[in-house]
Amino acid sequence: MSESYEQERTVAFEAVQAAAELTESVRESKGEVLEKDDRTPVTVADFGSQALICRALMEAFPQDPVIAEEDSSALQNPDNSDVRDQVVEYVQAHHPAAGPEGVYAWIDHGTAREYSDRFWTLDPIDGTKGFVRGDQYAIALALIEDGVPQVAALCCPHLPSDLTDEDPETRGQVFLAVRGEGTRQRSLADETAPTPIHTSDTTDPSRSRFTESFVSSHSSHDLAVEVAERLGITSDPFRIDSQAKYAVVATGNADIYLRLPRPGTDYTERIWDHAAGALVVEAAGGTVTDMYGNSLDFTHGRLLRENTGIVATNGAVHDDVIGALKAAAS
Ligand code: AMP
Ligand code: MG
Repeated sequence: MSESYEQERTVAFEAVQAAAELTESVRESKGEVLEKDDRTPVTVADFGSQALICRALMEAFPQDPVIAEEDSSALQNPDNSDVRDQVVEYVQAHHPAAGPEGVYAWIDHGTAREYSDRFWTLDPIDGTKGFVRGDQYAIALALIEDGVPQVAALCCPHLPSDLTDEDPETRGQVFLAVRGEGTRQRSLADETAPTPIHTSDTTDPSRSRFTESFVSSHSSHDLAVEVAERLGITSDPFRIDSQAKYAVVATGNADIYLRLPRPGTDYTERIWDHAAGALVVEAAGGTVTDMYGNSLDFTHGRLLRENTGIVATNGAVHDDVIGALKAAAS
């Protein structure tokens, strides 16, 4: 079968692969962590990853806006000159002629804010807290056309190829999806052909396994327990950071990903935290909506303004989960 978006797929794969090399070398050297205005952490690796990926997109698709998580303002602050120097040094491993001004420009290529007919969205390191802790994180890149993710490259540099066999040798997976053409998994480390993946065939909700955020402030673990009880689920949740949760559902290692707002909070989800992961699950046969069963609406710039919470499933148990959420709310 001929495949569409060939150039987009290739550029996206090579960009996340290069970014993963950078982020893993930062991890090995335990780089510095800054705190952003919203008090979330950002590292040398977040900036370096965004610089490399935006540069690749700029070169290949100069007309395409990029809505990415970071900007260079903190790096341009003289107080952070040591962090800036480290970022430039890591980027130079890939582009030896790069200097600070070029790196700022590449990072700031990702500062588009407004919706457009065709744009990319990027989380250069999703799950920064997991990254800093030495756990899971992801590099998430998606192309959105007419409000719908069409191409996704979701890289999980620390995820073993088989989650049930935590072999550190096999760490580093990339999930590539094109809408209508499936999701394929390939290893970062070797050149073996990508393998098509599919969500689980679990139809009995009580036999489902679910995954949720490791960080309890990102999702209500209490409401998840209530939903699990209503569905008759007895197994413990699988808690990991980042959009690796979408990969866990897309590969059939879990059946349900729940991301549920905590009572009393009014957090609005960011598009870069979901566009790539949602397509990886959907193209693998699953279903992704918000907690009310509404489609994710990627037409409002940086925010999923019209959505609340996220439910990603293997497809078969989706209506049961949405029904259990409705029942829990009434
Ligand atoms: P996870 O690793 O799935 O827990 O999610 C990491 C992402 O959660 C980060 O990229 C943030 O953008 C996002 N985030 C930050 N604060 C919140 C919050 N209060 N509720 C939900 N997500 C959040
Ligand atoms: Mg994120």
